[in-house]
Amino acid sequence: MSSTKYAETYSEAREQFYAACAKRGVECDEYPHPERGPGGEQLAACVARIGPTNSSRVLILNTGTHGIEGLAGSMCLVSWLNRWTAPLPADTSVVLIHLINPWGAAWERRQTEGNVDLNRNFMDFGRPLPSNPAFEILRDALIPDAVVAAGWHRALCDLAESRSLQGEGALAHAVFGGQYSDPTGVGFGGVAPTWSNSTFRSILARHTEGARSAASIDFHTGVGPFGYGTLLSTEPAGAAGLALARRWFNGPIVAMKEDLRHMPYAVRGDIGAAATEQVAGLIAATLEFGTFDVSRFMQLQIQDCWSHSYGSRGSQEDRRLREGLKNFFFPDAKDWREAAEARASEVITEALEGVANRR
Ligand SMILES: [Zn+2]
Repeated sequence: MSSTKYAETYSEAREQFYAACAKRGVECDEYPHPERGPGGEQLAACVARIGPTNSSRVLILNTGTHGIEGLAGSMCLVSWLNRWTAPLPADTSVVLIHLINPWGAAWERRQTEGNVDLNRNFMDFGRPLPSNPAFEILRDALIPDAVVAAGWHRALCDLAESRSLQGEGALAHAVFGGQYSDPTGVGFGGVAPTWSNSTFRSILARHTEGARSAASIDFHTGVGPFGYGTLLSTEPAGAAGLALARRWFNGPIVAMKEDLRHMPYAVRGDIGAAATEQVAGLIAATLEFGTFDVSRFMQLQIQDCWSHSYGSRGSQEDRRLREGLKNFFFPDAKDWREAAEARASEVITEALEGVANRR
């Protein structure tokens, strides 16, 4: 079902983004990454700004926080660049960040170099880091002896047992809540700001200087119903930014710190909260496109972290895993991709109106 219309690799995504920018007469700034891709290719985050450089209203579109999920984010940016033909509202700019975690996109992982979940990395590393007791309890299953045969079977049994005894919420907290104790495990938030973290902060500083009204949308995939784009906010319950976002966007916004049915754990160190903290009054939203079921998500993450730390790159098992990851986070299905493109365009349009008309 795959078609040449869509970029299936980091390099193709970058090429398509450049081509779409060139077609619109927009220049790209490159932020070169210090490491290389699996084929020795150079890696970079690219930034394109549409609209006046000194506009007081700025919408940031950020993609690839979770590496491989950025193939979908890139598709949404390219699609929007090709679709958006009307002039932007007055005094308003759109800043497109193409693959803020290019390492993860190229290596087909959600993590950055160093196995870090960038969305748990925006911490104050000068202070004691939080513990994750749920992760510690399940550590042997989350960092198993093996991800095939008996070792893997044992890990799956332990996870199933935990799910039935402690419930789905505790398991989700263990896997997705973030942990700062084991650099080989899932959900590792790092010990210092990653390259992607510092780069995001400097892009943000540069492009929101003098902005009176700013918003950001961070593109993700993997959680929620297949093909459905859920808007999320990490603003605390009752925050003015959350109320404003609810006025901007048609349809519901899941407030991650308020709605414990969707989010059974406390999110910390995420990129949206970092943006809100850095830029006064910035409205941060996450657009999350659902794919497949959450237990498959967990298994892929455990296997991927294991493979990165203990496996061998390029082995048959590893190749099968990469394929599984790619298809989970960027399904090879025309209907999924077209739905995501349309939803992204709708959300961007609403955000643009919100940013432009904010008093
Ligand atoms: Zn994500």
